[in-house]
Amino acid sequence: MKLSSPYKCDYCDNMKGETNHWWLLLVNPSFELHPWDENFLDAKGVEHICSQACAAKALSSWMSLVSKRSESDSPCAALELPRAEAPWVKPAVRS
Ligand SMILES: [Zn+2]
Repeated sequence: MKLSSPYKCDYCDNMKGETNHWWLLLVNPSFELHPWDENFLDAKGVEHICSQACAAKALSSWMSLVSKRSESDSPCAALELPRAEAPWVKPAVRS
């Protein structure tokens, strides 16, 4: 007999059913949303997301966390990405 899924959404109290289409969220340091994958359910730092609405909540809390961290610094620092390596930052040209 198969046990019912013990997984609960990390952003509301929904319990996962057999046929629900859920998502896995990995926040380290960027925001990555992945299709539900049995192999990664208990991996470190993984959160379980039941719906678009909860994914939006997760994105919003991640964004406020990142902007808090970067108040006195650049957003690149919050993502632990050296400025020079960020593709959108052009190196300063000195003459
Ligand atoms: Zn949820």
